[in-house]
Amino acid sequence: MKLSLLALIFLAACGRSGAPDISAYPNEEGLTRLCNNPAILGTPISDISQGGCGIDNPVAVRYVAGVRLSTPATLNCRTASTLADWVENDAQDAVKKLRSRITEMTVFASYACRTRNNQRGARMSEHSLGNAIDIGVITLANGVELSVEDDWRKSNKEGAAIRALHESACGPFGTVLGPNSDRFHYNHFHFDTAAYRSGSYCR
Ligand SMILES: [Zn+2]
Repeated sequence: MKLSLLALIFLAACGRSGAPDISAYPNEEGLTRLCNNPAILGTPISDISQGGCGIDNPVAVRYVAGVRLSTPATLNCRTASTLADWVENDAQDAVKKLRSRITEMTVFASYACRTRNNQRGARMSEHSLGNAIDIGVITLANGVELSVEDDWRKSNKEGAAIRALHESACGPFGTVLGPNSDRFHYNHFHFDTAAYRSGSYCR
């Protein structure tokens, strides 16, 4: 399973043929195109090394596939690219029934040198390697804000859309956690690119 996932990532990376289409992602803020991916805009930052935590070639990501992040997210390139691909190929489709497009995502966390859920004695979090991002709110072009905390349990279109977003991330990301996973994720989605032998883990 792990091998086939790697093969998929490899194929996806090689699938971008020829020169990248930069015009698809305008760069009005003069940011740097990162990770050899025209869909990722932000600023490169120096390597991070803090004990067992850190990232080689980290990036501070401001836009993925034209969607602005509320605050720059510090990630490794694998995770930034997964996020960009998910937005472009899956997340926009997941909100289609609301007849709009995602324009911004509110970042609750990205790189952080800490244990899982900040619990003493727990394993180190994927956040400590730049493999993870937490997103709490998805904002659409029509002004609608889809909130994990407020909309997850609603039976309306907005609730359906936020649950569809969660489902659509399962596969692109190795781990997807939301309000059904545990009490720590009542108000955000945790996405990370850790690969598991048994496939994606989504709750
Ligand atoms: Zn998280």
